[in-house]
Amino acid sequence: MPAVQNPPEKMMFQLNLRRRGISDQAVLRAMEEIPRDAFVAPADRADAYRDSALGIACGQTISQPFVVAYMTEQLQLQKDHRVLEIGTGSGYQAAILSRLCGQVLSIERYRTLADSARARLEKAGCDNVEVMLGDGFDIPAGGGDFDRIIVTAAMEQIPESLTQRLEPGGILIAPVGPHQGVQTLVRLVRTEAGLERKELVDVRFVPALPGIAREL
Ligand code: SAH
Repeated sequence: MPAVQNPPEKMMFQLNLRRRGISDQAVLRAMEEIPRDAFVAPADRADAYRDSALGIACGQTISQPFVVAYMTEQLQLQKDHRVLEIGTGSGYQAAILSRLCGQVLSIERYRTLADSARARLEKAGCDNVEVMLGDGFDIPAGGGDFDRIIVTAAMEQIPESLTQRLEPGGILIAPVGPHQGVQTLVRLVRTEAGLERKELVDVRFVPALPGIAREL
């Protein structure tokens, strides 16, 4: 018998992602390599490899692993891509992205979350991620455009300030819909003809709120 290399819950974690349709090997590998238990609250470590969202500080959540894998797969990342994430939260999604692209800029409106995510990402060796305290509805001019943009908080609509930052051929993915209730994952592709829009699956995210949080 081969030696068991992973604890059973990590094997189930991978199996579940495959069973639900994640097939991109590079995405599966990133999900295998990044320890989700390092991104959840200490009290939730035992539940880190369950396929569910979990609470983190500031009343926010770390997304469900399937949704992280699915959104990542839909981005079709390449090694030289510059990626913008809105909603750093725990830093877990940023860590997964960092394995698959060139550079990640991740923006978070809570200082507490930005600081702890930065520390976790550093510890996980994700040195191509920059975490910035800021407002995803008002990203600083300059700093250029992005090959991919991923929004991990629910927006009632996708603001032009974001789509404007998408390179030609670029892909943006965001949960769009009412703050309370179910949203739809929307994928936009910047083509020569304009923005091509496709609705993917229903999801539930915490709301994207304007401005830097006044609370820590
Ligand atoms: N991607 C995260 C989960 C994000 S939860 C992870 O992997 O853990 C959504 C996050 O978006 C929350 O932390 C919330 O504070 C943040 N957020 C909401 N509105 C925002 C805005 N306008 N700009 C930046 N971050 C925002």
